[in-house]
Amino acid sequence: MMSSVVLKTYLRCGLRRVFSIQERCRVTTSGSDHGERGLSEEDKRIPRAGKYRSPWKILKEEFEGIKTMKPAGTDVPRETDVLIVGGGVIGSSVAYWLKQWNPSATNIVIVERDPVYTRASTMLSAGGIRHQFSVPENVQLSMFATEFLRDIKEHLSVIHEGPPDVQFNHQGYLFLAPPRDAQQLAANVNMQQQLGARVELLSKGQLAEKFPWMNLEGIDCGSLGLEGEGWFDPWSLVRALKQKNISMGVKYVHGELTEFTFQTKEDSSETNKDLRLDSGVIRVKDGREFEVRFAMVVNCAGPWAADVAEIARIGTGDAELQIPLPVEPRKRFVFVPHCPDGPMLDCPFVVDPCGVYVRREGLGGHYICGCSPGCEAEEPEIANFDVDYEFYNEYIWPKLAERIPAFNNSKLKSAWAGYYEYNFFDRNLVIGPHPYHKNFFFANGLSGHGLQHALGIGRALMEYITEGDYQTIDLSRFHFDRFLSRQPIEESGIV
Ligand SMILES: Cc1cc2nc3c(=O)[nH]c(=O)nc-3n(C[C@H](O)[C@H](O)[C@H](O)COP(=O)(O)OP(=O)(O)OC[C@H]3O[C@@H](n4cnc5c(N)ncnc54)[C@H](O)[C@@H]3O)c2cc1C
Repeated sequence: MMSSVVLKTYLRCGLRRVFSIQERCRVTTSGSDHGERGLSEEDKRIPRAGKYRSPWKILKEEFEGIKTMKPAGTDVPRETDVLIVGGGVIGSSVAYWLKQWNPSATNIVIVERDPVYTRASTMLSAGGIRHQFSVPENVQLSMFATEFLRDIKEHLSVIHEGPPDVQFNHQGYLFLAPPRDAQQLAANVNMQQQLGARVELLSKGQLAEKFPWMNLEGIDCGSLGLEGEGWFDPWSLVRALKQKNISMGVKYVHGELTEFTFQTKEDSSETNKDLRLDSGVIRVKDGREFEVRFAMVVNCAGPWAADVAEIARIGTGDAELQIPLPVEPRKRFVFVPHCPDGPMLDCPFVVDPCGVYVRREGLGGHYICGCSPGCEAEEPEIANFDVDYEFYNEYIWPKLAERIPAFNNSKLKSAWAGYYEYNFFDRNLVIGPHPYHKNFFFANGLSGHGLQHALGIGRALMEYITEGDYQTIDLSRFHFDRFLSRQPIEESGIV
Protein backbone atom coordinates (compact mmCIF):
# COMPACT_ATOMS: atom_id res chain seq x y z
CA MET A 1 0.00 0.00 0.00
CA MET A 2 1.21 3.50 -0.76
CA SER A 3 2.26 5.65 2.22
CA SER A 4 1.85 9.41 2.32
CA VAL A 5 5.62 9.68 2.10
CA VAL A 6 5.48 7.90 -1.23
CA LEU A 7 2.63 10.16 -2.32
CA LYS A 8 4.74 13.16 -1.43
CA THR A 9 7.55 11.73 -3.48
CA TYR A 10 5.14 11.25 -6.36
CA LEU A 11 4.25 14.90 -6.32
CA ARG A 12 7.75 16.18 -5.82
CA CYS A 13 9.29 14.08 -8.52
CA GLY A 14 6.57 13.95 -11.14
CA LEU A 15 5.34 11.01 -13.11
CA ARG A 16 8.63 9.70 -14.45
CA ARG A 17 9.60 8.92 -10.88
CA VAL A 18 6.13 7.52 -10.22
CA PHE A 19 6.58 4.90 -12.85
CA SER A 20 10.01 3.91 -11.67
CA ILE A 21 8.69 3.57 -8.10
CA GLN A 22 5.88 1.45 -9.40
CA GLU A 23 8.35 -0.76 -11.23
CA ARG A 24 10.34 -1.21 -8.07
CA CYS A 25 7.17 -2.24 -6.28
CA ARG A 26 6.78 -4.96 -8.91
CA VAL A 27 3.22 -4.09 -9.75
CA THR A 28 1.65 -4.99 -13.03
CA THR A 29 -1.49 -3.84 -14.75
CA SER A 30 -4.22 -6.41 -14.38
CA GLY A 31 -4.18 -7.43 -17.99
CA SER A 32 -7.92 -7.68 -18.43
CA ASP A 33 -8.73 -4.11 -17.40
CA HIS A 34 -9.47 -2.80 -20.86
CA GLY A 35 -9.78 -5.75 -23.07
CA GLU A 36 -12.67 -7.00 -20.97
CA ARG A 37 -14.56 -3.75 -20.64
CA GLY A 38 -16.43 -4.56 -23.81
CA LEU A 39 -15.00 -1.63 -25.74
CA SER A 40 -15.69 -1.29 -29.44
CA GLU A 41 -12.96 -1.76 -31.99
CA GLU A 42 -12.69 2.00 -32.33
CA ASP A 43 -12.35 2.40 -28.56
CA LYS A 44 -9.67 -0.23 -28.48
CA ARG A 45 -7.62 1.86 -30.86
CA ILE A 46 -7.75 4.79 -28.44
CA PRO A 47 -4.32 5.02 -26.92
CA ARG A 48 -4.08 3.94 -23.29
CA ALA A 49 -1.72 5.34 -20.75
CA GLY A 50 1.28 3.27 -19.92
CA LYS A 51 1.65 1.59 -23.32
CA TYR A 52 4.43 2.92 -25.47
CA ARG A 53 3.35 4.97 -28.47
CA SER A 54 5.75 7.00 -30.49
CA PRO A 55 5.40 10.82 -30.36
CA TRP A 56 4.79 10.73 -34.10
CA LYS A 57 1.79 8.42 -33.62
CA ILE A 58 0.38 10.68 -30.89
CA LEU A 59 0.78 13.76 -33.08
CA LYS A 60 -0.87 11.99 -35.98
CA GLU A 61 -3.89 11.07 -33.83
CA GLU A 62 -4.22 14.60 -32.47
CA PHE A 63 -4.11 15.90 -36.01
CA GLU A 64 -6.75 13.42 -37.20
CA GLY A 65 -9.00 14.66 -34.39
CA ILE A 66 -8.68 18.29 -35.47
CA LYS A 67 -9.15 17.38 -39.13
CA THR A 68 -12.45 15.61 -38.52
CA MET A 69 -13.60 18.38 -36.12
CA LYS A 70 -14.34 15.85 -33.42
CA PRO A 71 -15.24 17.26 -29.99
CA ALA A 72 -12.43 17.72 -27.48
CA GLY A 73 -11.90 14.04 -26.78
CA THR A 74 -8.29 13.88 -27.87
CA ASP A 75 -7.60 16.68 -25.41
CA VAL A 76 -7.78 14.23 -22.54
CA PRO A 77 -4.26 13.79 -21.21
CA ARG A 78 -3.05 10.25 -20.90
CA GLU A 79 -1.48 10.74 -17.52
CA THR A 80 -1.42 13.23 -14.70
CA ASP A 81 -0.09 13.52 -11.18
CA VAL A 82 -3.47 14.41 -9.70
CA LEU A 83 -6.89 13.69 -11.15
CA ILE A 84 -9.65 15.76 -9.57
CA VAL A 85 -13.21 14.53 -10.11
CA GLY A 86 -15.58 17.52 -10.08
CA GLY A 87 -14.75 21.09 -11.02
CA GLY A 88 -17.04 22.93 -8.59
CA VAL A 89 -15.70 25.21 -5.89
CA ILE A 90 -14.01 22.40 -3.97
CA GLY A 91 -12.30 20.75 -6.95
CA SER A 92 -11.14 24.13 -8.22
CA SER A 93 -9.82 25.09 -4.79
CA VAL A 94 -7.90 21.83 -4.39
CA ALA A 95 -6.28 22.37 -7.78
CA TYR A 96 -5.45 25.98 -6.94
CA TRP A 97 -3.68 25.10 -3.71
CA LEU A 98 -1.73 22.21 -5.19
CA LYS A 99 -0.53 24.55 -7.91
CA GLN A 100 0.32 27.21 -5.34
CA TRP A 101 2.55 24.75 -3.59
CA ASN A 102 4.63 24.22 -6.69
CA PRO A 103 3.22 25.37 -10.03
CA SER A 104 5.63 23.42 -12.17
CA ALA A 105 5.97 20.18 -10.21
CA THR A 106 2.42 18.96 -10.36
CA ASN A 107 0.24 18.11 -13.35
CA ILE A 108 -3.42 18.45 -12.50
CA VAL A 109 -6.45 17.38 -14.49
CA ILE A 110 -9.97 18.29 -13.40
CA VAL A 111 -12.71 16.24 -14.97
CA GLU A 112 -16.11 17.91 -14.96
CA ARG A 113 -19.16 16.51 -16.72
CA ASP A 114 -21.22 19.69 -16.49
CA PRO A 115 -18.92 22.59 -17.41
CA VAL A 116 -21.71 25.16 -17.14
CA TYR A 117 -22.53 23.86 -13.66
CA THR A 118 -26.30 23.68 -14.14
CA ARG A 119 -26.73 21.23 -11.26
CA ALA A 120 -23.60 21.85 -9.20
CA SER A 121 -24.29 22.80 -5.58
CA THR A 122 -21.84 25.63 -5.85
CA MET A 123 -23.99 27.57 -8.31
CA LEU A 124 -27.22 26.85 -6.48
CA SER A 125 -26.02 27.87 -3.04
CA ALA A 126 -27.11 30.86 -0.98
CA GLY A 127 -23.53 32.18 -0.91
CA GLY A 128 -23.35 32.61 2.86
CA ILE A 129 -20.23 32.72 5.02
CA ARG A 130 -20.29 32.75 8.81
CA HIS A 131 -17.88 32.19 11.65
CA GLN A 132 -20.62 30.82 13.86
CA PHE A 133 -20.30 27.05 14.02
CA SER A 134 -20.28 24.66 16.96
CA VAL A 135 -17.20 22.70 15.77
CA PRO A 136 -13.95 24.70 16.16
CA GLU A 137 -12.40 23.55 12.87
CA ASN A 138 -15.47 24.82 11.01
CA VAL A 139 -15.00 28.24 12.60
CA GLN A 140 -11.35 28.25 11.57
CA LEU A 141 -12.15 27.20 7.99
CA SER A 142 -14.63 30.06 7.63
CA MET A 143 -12.28 32.59 9.18
CA PHE A 144 -9.61 31.57 6.72
CA ALA A 145 -12.05 32.03 3.82
CA THR A 146 -12.87 35.57 4.95
CA GLU A 147 -9.18 36.37 5.09
CA PHE A 148 -8.60 34.91 1.63
CA LEU A 149 -11.56 36.73 0.10
CA ARG A 150 -10.37 40.00 1.61
CA ASP A 151 -7.22 39.72 -0.50
CA ILE A 152 -8.78 37.89 -3.41
CA LYS A 153 -7.38 40.29 -5.99
CA GLU A 154 -3.89 39.49 -4.80
CA HIS A 155 -4.52 35.74 -4.77
CA LEU A 156 -6.53 35.16 -7.93
CA SER A 157 -5.75 37.96 -10.37
CA VAL A 158 -4.59 36.86 -13.77
CA ILE A 159 -2.64 38.95 -16.21
CA HIS A 160 -4.76 40.46 -19.04
CA GLU A 161 -8.00 39.87 -17.09
CA GLY A 162 -9.88 42.24 -14.81
CA PRO A 163 -9.32 41.61 -11.08
CA PRO A 164 -11.79 39.16 -9.54
CA ASP A 165 -14.67 40.51 -7.48
CA VAL A 166 -16.96 38.13 -5.58
CA GLN A 167 -19.26 40.96 -4.46
CA PHE A 168 -18.81 40.29 -0.78
CA ASN A 169 -21.73 41.70 1.26
CA HIS A 170 -20.56 42.29 4.79
CA GLN A 171 -23.43 41.48 7.10
CA GLY A 172 -23.34 39.32 10.22
CA TYR A 173 -25.41 36.21 10.85
CA LEU A 174 -27.87 36.42 13.72
CA PHE A 175 -28.60 33.08 15.39
CA LEU A 176 -31.65 33.31 17.65
CA ALA A 177 -32.03 30.92 20.58
CA PRO A 178 -35.01 29.98 22.75
CA PRO A 179 -34.35 29.49 26.50
CA ARG A 180 -33.59 25.75 26.04
CA ASP A 181 -30.71 26.50 23.63
CA ALA A 182 -29.35 29.64 25.34
CA GLN A 183 -26.56 27.84 27.19
CA GLN A 184 -25.35 26.05 24.07
CA LEU A 185 -25.38 29.32 22.11
CA ALA A 186 -23.33 31.06 24.82
CA ALA A 187 -20.81 28.18 24.80
CA ASN A 188 -20.54 28.40 21.01
CA VAL A 189 -19.95 32.15 21.15
CA ASN A 190 -17.31 31.68 23.80
CA MET A 191 -15.46 29.11 21.67
CA GLN A 192 -15.77 31.29 18.55
CA GLN A 193 -14.38 34.29 20.43
CA GLN A 194 -11.47 32.19 21.73
CA LEU A 195 -10.61 31.42 18.12
CA GLY A 196 -10.59 35.13 17.31
CA ALA A 197 -14.02 35.42 15.67
CA ARG A 198 -15.79 38.71 16.28
CA VAL A 199 -19.15 37.44 17.51
CA GLU A 200 -21.32 38.98 20.20
CA LEU A 201 -23.93 37.41 22.48
CA LEU A 202 -27.02 39.64 22.76
CA SER A 203 -29.70 39.42 25.43
CA LYS A 204 -33.35 39.67 24.52
CA GLY A 205 -33.32 43.35 25.57
CA GLN A 206 -30.31 44.11 23.40
CA LEU A 207 -31.91 42.31 20.46
CA ALA A 208 -35.09 44.35 20.86
CA GLU A 209 -33.11 47.56 20.87
CA LYS A 210 -31.01 46.65 17.83
CA PHE A 211 -33.74 45.04 15.73
CA PRO A 212 -37.03 46.74 16.64
CA TRP A 213 -38.70 45.26 13.55
CA MET A 214 -38.33 41.73 14.91
CA ASN A 215 -40.85 39.84 17.04
CA LEU A 216 -38.83 38.21 19.83
CA GLU A 217 -41.51 36.01 21.28
CA GLY A 218 -39.99 32.74 22.52
CA ILE A 219 -36.43 34.06 22.12
CA ASP A 220 -33.97 34.27 24.99
CA CYS A 221 -30.83 35.55 23.28
CA GLY A 222 -28.98 35.76 19.99
CA SER A 223 -25.44 35.72 18.62
CA LEU A 224 -24.46 38.29 16.04
CA GLY A 225 -21.39 38.24 13.79
CA LEU A 226 -19.66 41.60 13.87
CA GLU A 227 -16.99 41.07 11.25
CA GLY A 228 -16.09 38.76 8.39
CA GLU A 229 -19.54 37.27 7.85
CA GLY A 230 -21.96 37.83 5.00
CA TRP A 231 -22.46 36.41 1.54
CA PHE A 232 -20.84 36.51 -1.86
CA ASP A 233 -21.36 35.37 -5.42
CA PRO A 234 -20.36 31.68 -5.77
CA TRP A 235 -20.01 31.82 -9.54
CA SER A 236 -17.53 34.71 -9.36
CA LEU A 237 -15.37 32.68 -6.97
CA VAL A 238 -15.42 29.56 -9.13
CA ARG A 239 -14.71 31.58 -12.26
CA ALA A 240 -11.79 33.34 -10.60
CA LEU A 241 -10.34 30.06 -9.31
CA LYS A 242 -10.80 28.43 -12.70
CA GLN A 243 -9.18 31.31 -14.53
CA LYS A 244 -6.24 31.27 -12.14
CA ASN A 245 -5.93 27.50 -12.36
CA ILE A 246 -5.89 27.53 -16.14
CA SER A 247 -3.23 30.26 -16.07
CA MET A 248 -1.12 27.94 -13.89
CA GLY A 249 -1.54 24.99 -16.25
CA VAL A 250 -4.45 23.06 -14.71
CA LYS A 251 -6.27 21.12 -17.39
CA TYR A 252 -10.09 21.12 -17.26
CA VAL A 253 -11.58 18.22 -19.17
CA HIS A 254 -15.24 18.09 -20.17
CA GLY A 255 -16.22 14.51 -19.45
CA GLU A 256 -17.50 12.09 -16.88
CA LEU A 257 -15.41 9.78 -14.78
CA THR A 258 -17.10 6.41 -15.26
CA GLU A 259 -14.59 3.87 -14.09
CA PHE A 260 -11.35 3.32 -12.25
CA THR A 261 -8.82 0.72 -13.20
CA PHE A 262 -6.66 -1.01 -10.64
CA GLN A 263 -3.27 -2.57 -10.45
CA THR A 264 -2.72 -5.84 -8.67
CA LYS A 265 0.49 -7.08 -7.16
CA GLU A 266 1.99 -9.99 -9.05
CA ASP A 267 2.40 -12.22 -6.05
CA SER A 268 -1.03 -11.81 -4.50
CA SER A 269 -4.40 -13.47 -4.74
CA GLU A 270 -7.49 -11.83 -6.20
CA THR A 271 -8.68 -9.97 -3.09
CA ASN A 272 -9.31 -6.31 -2.34
CA LYS A 273 -6.10 -6.20 -0.42
CA ASP A 274 -4.12 -6.34 -3.63
CA LEU A 275 -5.78 -3.53 -5.53
CA ARG A 276 -4.26 -0.13 -6.14
CA LEU A 277 -6.06 2.65 -7.98
CA ASP A 278 -4.16 3.34 -11.13
CA SER A 279 -6.24 5.26 -13.66
CA GLY A 280 -9.63 6.73 -14.40
CA VAL A 281 -11.77 6.21 -17.47
CA ILE A 282 -13.29 9.43 -18.75
CA ARG A 283 -16.24 9.39 -21.10
CA VAL A 284 -16.48 12.47 -23.28
CA LYS A 285 -19.53 13.96 -24.91
CA ASP A 286 -19.55 11.81 -28.03
CA GLY A 287 -19.35 8.61 -25.97
CA ARG A 288 -15.68 7.87 -26.49
CA GLU A 289 -13.67 6.82 -23.47
CA PHE A 290 -10.15 7.79 -22.49
CA GLU A 291 -7.99 6.43 -19.77
CA VAL A 292 -5.99 8.82 -17.62
CA ARG A 293 -3.31 7.34 -15.45
CA PHE A 294 -2.73 9.15 -12.14
CA ALA A 295 -0.64 9.10 -9.01
CA MET A 296 -3.61 10.18 -6.91
CA VAL A 297 -7.25 11.06 -7.33
CA VAL A 298 -9.33 13.56 -5.34
CA ASN A 299 -13.08 13.08 -5.02
CA CYS A 300 -14.69 16.54 -5.34
CA ALA A 301 -17.95 15.32 -6.82
CA GLY A 302 -20.21 17.16 -4.35
CA PRO A 303 -23.62 15.50 -3.97
CA TRP A 304 -22.47 12.65 -6.26
CA ALA A 305 -19.35 11.89 -4.21
CA ALA A 306 -20.64 8.50 -3.03
CA ASP A 307 -21.05 7.39 -6.66
CA VAL A 308 -17.44 8.26 -7.41
CA ALA A 309 -16.33 6.47 -4.23
CA GLU A 310 -18.33 3.42 -5.25
CA ILE A 311 -16.59 3.34 -8.63
CA ALA A 312 -13.41 2.89 -6.56
CA ARG A 313 -15.22 -0.02 -4.81
CA ILE A 314 -15.57 1.98 -1.61
CA GLY A 315 -18.67 0.49 -0.03
CA THR A 316 -18.78 -2.61 -2.19
CA GLY A 317 -15.59 -4.47 -1.24
CA ASP A 318 -14.29 -6.30 1.81
CA ALA A 319 -12.74 -5.04 5.07
CA GLU A 320 -12.10 -1.26 4.89
CA LEU A 321 -13.86 -1.21 1.53
CA GLN A 322 -17.12 -2.36 3.12
CA ILE A 323 -18.08 1.05 4.44
CA PRO A 324 -19.60 3.39 1.84
CA LEU A 325 -19.06 7.13 1.83
CA PRO A 326 -22.12 8.35 3.78
CA VAL A 327 -22.87 11.28 1.48
CA GLU A 328 -25.99 11.73 -0.60
CA PRO A 329 -27.82 14.51 -2.44
CA ARG A 330 -30.52 16.18 -0.34
CA LYS A 331 -32.73 18.73 -2.01
CA ARG A 332 -32.90 22.20 -0.51
CA PHE A 333 -35.03 25.11 -1.75
CA VAL A 334 -34.12 28.76 -1.92
CA PHE A 335 -37.06 31.17 -2.12
CA VAL A 336 -36.85 34.81 -3.17
CA PRO A 337 -39.72 36.92 -1.80
CA HIS A 338 -40.14 40.65 -2.36
CA CYS A 339 -40.95 42.53 0.83
CA PRO A 340 -41.22 46.28 0.25
CA ASP A 341 -41.49 47.15 3.97
CA GLY A 342 -38.73 44.76 5.08
CA PRO A 343 -35.77 45.69 7.27
CA MET A 344 -33.46 46.14 4.26
CA LEU A 345 -29.89 47.15 5.16
CA ASP A 346 -30.64 46.58 8.84
CA CYS A 347 -31.26 42.89 8.18
CA PRO A 348 -28.56 40.45 9.25
CA PHE A 349 -28.55 36.86 7.96
CA VAL A 350 -31.23 35.75 10.44
CA VAL A 351 -31.42 32.09 11.50
CA ASP A 352 -34.56 31.31 13.46
CA PRO A 353 -34.70 28.43 15.98
CA CYS A 354 -37.33 26.76 13.76
CA GLY A 355 -34.69 26.47 11.02
CA VAL A 356 -35.99 29.21 8.71
CA TYR A 357 -33.29 31.59 7.52
CA VAL A 358 -33.60 34.90 5.69
CA ARG A 359 -31.21 37.46 4.30
CA ARG A 360 -31.37 40.52 2.08
CA GLU A 361 -30.72 40.05 -1.65
CA GLY A 362 -29.62 43.27 -3.30
CA LEU A 363 -31.13 46.62 -2.42
CA GLY A 364 -34.52 46.42 -4.13
CA GLY A 365 -36.53 44.82 -1.29
CA HIS A 366 -35.76 41.23 -2.24
CA TYR A 367 -34.77 38.56 0.28
CA ILE A 368 -33.52 34.99 0.13
CA CYS A 369 -34.93 32.44 2.53
CA GLY A 370 -35.17 28.70 3.08
CA CYS A 371 -35.25 25.94 5.66
CA SER A 372 -33.91 22.42 6.01
CA PRO A 373 -36.57 19.80 6.78
CA GLY A 374 -37.13 19.02 10.45
CA CYS A 375 -36.62 15.26 10.09
CA GLU A 376 -35.70 12.52 7.63
CA ALA A 377 -39.32 11.77 6.88
CA GLU A 378 -39.80 15.29 5.55
CA GLU A 379 -36.86 15.16 3.14
CA PRO A 380 -38.04 16.11 -0.35
CA GLU A 381 -37.55 13.56 -3.11
CA ILE A 382 -34.47 14.14 -5.21
CA ALA A 383 -35.43 12.83 -8.62
CA ASN A 384 -35.69 16.33 -10.07
CA PHE A 385 -35.07 19.99 -9.27
CA ASP A 386 -38.77 20.89 -8.87
CA VAL A 387 -39.56 23.44 -6.17
CA ASP A 388 -42.11 22.67 -3.48
CA TYR A 389 -44.09 25.92 -3.32
CA GLU A 390 -46.45 24.49 -0.73
CA PHE A 391 -43.49 24.24 1.64
CA TYR A 392 -43.01 27.98 1.27
CA ASN A 393 -46.68 28.88 1.60
CA GLU A 394 -47.49 26.56 4.45
CA TYR A 395 -44.32 26.60 6.52
CA ILE A 396 -41.65 29.14 5.60
CA TRP A 397 -43.82 32.18 4.93
CA PRO A 398 -45.90 31.90 8.13
CA LYS A 399 -42.75 31.38 10.24
CA LEU A 400 -41.04 34.29 8.54
CA ALA A 401 -43.99 36.60 9.00
CA GLU A 402 -44.26 35.57 12.63
CA ARG A 403 -40.66 36.57 13.31
CA ILE A 404 -40.52 39.60 10.99
CA PRO A 405 -44.08 40.92 10.68
CA ALA A 406 -43.18 43.03 7.61
CA PHE A 407 -43.21 39.75 5.65
CA ASN A 408 -46.98 39.60 6.00
CA ASN A 409 -46.85 42.01 3.08
CA SER A 410 -44.54 40.12 0.75
CA LYS A 411 -44.79 38.23 -2.50
CA LEU A 412 -42.77 35.28 -3.70
CA LYS A 413 -40.88 36.24 -6.87
CA SER A 414 -38.79 33.22 -7.68
CA ALA A 415 -37.26 30.06 -6.24
CA TRP A 416 -34.81 27.29 -7.07
CA ALA A 417 -33.66 23.95 -5.74
CA GLY A 418 -30.20 22.48 -5.34
CA TYR A 419 -28.55 19.54 -3.65
CA TYR A 420 -26.69 19.64 -0.36
CA GLU A 421 -23.85 17.08 -0.43
CA TYR A 422 -25.27 15.70 2.79
CA ASN A 423 -23.18 13.59 5.12
CA PHE A 424 -25.87 11.57 6.92
CA PHE A 425 -23.36 10.21 9.44
CA ASP A 426 -22.56 13.51 11.16
CA ARG A 427 -23.25 16.37 8.69
CA ASN A 428 -19.59 17.27 8.50
CA LEU A 429 -16.59 17.31 6.24
CA VAL A 430 -14.87 14.12 5.03
CA ILE A 431 -11.28 14.84 4.07
CA GLY A 432 -8.00 13.00 3.63
CA PRO A 433 -7.11 9.59 2.22
CA HIS A 434 -9.23 6.48 2.20
CA PRO A 435 -7.81 3.99 4.73
CA TYR A 436 -7.41 1.33 2.03
CA HIS A 437 -6.90 3.32 -1.17
CA LYS A 438 -4.16 5.60 0.09
CA ASN A 439 -4.10 7.50 -3.20
CA PHE A 440 -7.86 8.24 -3.14
CA PHE A 441 -8.60 11.50 -1.31
CA PHE A 442 -11.94 12.87 -0.13
CA ALA A 443 -13.15 16.46 0.00
CA ASN A 444 -16.83 15.78 0.57
CA GLY A 445 -19.86 15.83 2.82
CA LEU A 446 -20.00 19.54 3.65
CA SER A 447 -23.77 19.40 4.22
CA GLY A 448 -24.51 22.98 3.24
CA HIS A 449 -21.35 24.85 4.22
CA GLY A 450 -18.95 23.80 1.48
CA LEU A 451 -18.82 27.08 -0.39
CA GLN A 452 -17.31 28.95 2.53
CA HIS A 453 -15.02 26.06 3.51
CA ALA A 454 -13.75 25.24 0.03
CA LEU A 455 -10.69 27.48 0.25
CA GLY A 456 -9.59 26.05 3.60
CA ILE A 457 -10.26 22.49 2.45
CA GLY A 458 -8.13 22.98 -0.66
CA ARG A 459 -5.27 24.35 1.42
CA ALA A 460 -5.59 21.55 3.97
CA LEU A 461 -5.50 18.82 1.32
CA MET A 462 -2.48 20.44 -0.28
CA GLU A 463 -0.72 20.39 3.10
CA TYR A 464 -1.63 16.78 3.75
CA ILE A 465 -0.61 15.60 0.31
CA THR A 466 2.65 17.51 0.13
CA GLU A 467 3.75 17.47 3.78
CA GLY A 468 2.08 14.31 5.01
CA ASP A 469 0.16 16.22 7.68
CA TYR A 470 -1.93 19.35 8.23
CA GLN A 471 0.12 22.48 8.84
CA THR A 472 -2.47 25.17 9.59
CA ILE A 473 -5.90 23.80 10.56
CA ASP A 474 -5.71 20.23 11.85
CA LEU A 475 -8.48 18.32 10.09
CA SER A 476 -7.27 14.82 10.91
CA ARG A 477 -10.34 13.94 12.95
CA PHE A 478 -12.45 14.46 9.80
CA HIS A 479 -10.83 11.52 8.03
CA PHE A 480 -12.82 8.57 6.70
CA ASP A 481 -11.55 6.45 9.62
CA ARG A 482 -14.21 7.94 11.87
CA PHE A 483 -16.85 5.96 9.97
CA LEU A 484 -14.96 2.76 10.79
CA SER A 485 -14.61 3.65 14.46
CA ARG A 486 -18.12 5.16 14.51
CA GLN A 487 -17.05 8.46 16.03
CA PRO A 488 -19.30 11.22 14.69
CA ILE A 489 -18.34 14.89 14.96
CA GLU A 490 -21.74 16.55 15.16
CA GLU A 491 -22.10 20.12 13.93
CA SER A 492 -25.16 21.66 15.53
CA GLY A 493 -25.07 24.79 13.39
CA ILE A 494 -26.41 23.30 10.16
CA VAL A 495 -28.69 25.72 8.37
C1 LIG B 1 -29.57 25.52 -1.73
C2 LIG B 1 -28.16 25.50 -1.23
C3 LIG B 1 -27.72 26.53 -0.43
C4 LIG B 1 -26.40 26.52 0.03
N1 LIG B 1 -25.94 27.58 0.76
C5 LIG B 1 -24.66 27.61 1.16
C6 LIG B 1 -24.17 28.73 1.86
O1 LIG B 1 -24.87 29.68 2.12
N2 LIG B 1 -22.87 28.71 2.25
C7 LIG B 1 -22.05 27.64 1.98
O2 LIG B 1 -20.89 27.67 2.38
N3 LIG B 1 -22.50 26.58 1.31
C8 LIG B 1 -23.77 26.53 0.88
N4 LIG B 1 -24.24 25.45 0.20
C9 LIG B 1 -23.37 24.29 0.04
C10 LIG B 1 -22.36 24.51 -1.06
O3 LIG B 1 -22.99 24.98 -2.19
C11 LIG B 1 -21.65 23.20 -1.32
O4 LIG B 1 -21.16 22.67 -0.11
C12 LIG B 1 -20.46 23.37 -2.25
O5 LIG B 1 -20.83 24.12 -3.36
C13 LIG B 1 -19.95 22.01 -2.67
O6 LIG B 1 -19.03 22.21 -3.69
P1 LIG B 1 -18.51 20.98 -4.53
O7 LIG B 1 -17.50 21.52 -5.46
O8 LIG B 1 -18.14 19.88 -3.62
O9 LIG B 1 -19.81 20.43 -5.28
P2 LIG B 1 -20.48 20.88 -6.68
O10 LIG B 1 -20.51 22.36 -6.81
O11 LIG B 1 -21.77 20.16 -6.75
O12 LIG B 1 -19.47 20.32 -7.72
C14 LIG B 1 -19.33 18.93 -7.94
C15 LIG B 1 -19.14 18.73 -9.41
O13 LIG B 1 -18.77 17.37 -9.64
C16 LIG B 1 -19.24 17.02 -10.91
N5 LIG B 1 -19.26 15.56 -10.98
C17 LIG B 1 -19.92 14.71 -10.16
N6 LIG B 1 -19.66 13.43 -10.53
C18 LIG B 1 -18.81 13.49 -11.59
C19 LIG B 1 -18.20 12.51 -12.40
N7 LIG B 1 -18.39 11.19 -12.20
N8 LIG B 1 -17.41 12.91 -13.43
C20 LIG B 1 -17.21 14.24 -13.67
N9 LIG B 1 -17.78 15.21 -12.92
C21 LIG B 1 -18.56 14.84 -11.89
C22 LIG B 1 -20.62 17.64 -10.98
O14 LIG B 1 -21.02 17.84 -12.31
C23 LIG B 1 -20.41 18.96 -10.22
O15 LIG B 1 -20.24 20.05 -11.08
C24 LIG B 1 -25.53 25.45 -0.31
C25 LIG B 1 -26.00 24.41 -1.12
C26 LIG B 1 -27.29 24.44 -1.60
C27 LIG B 1 -27.75 23.33 -2.49
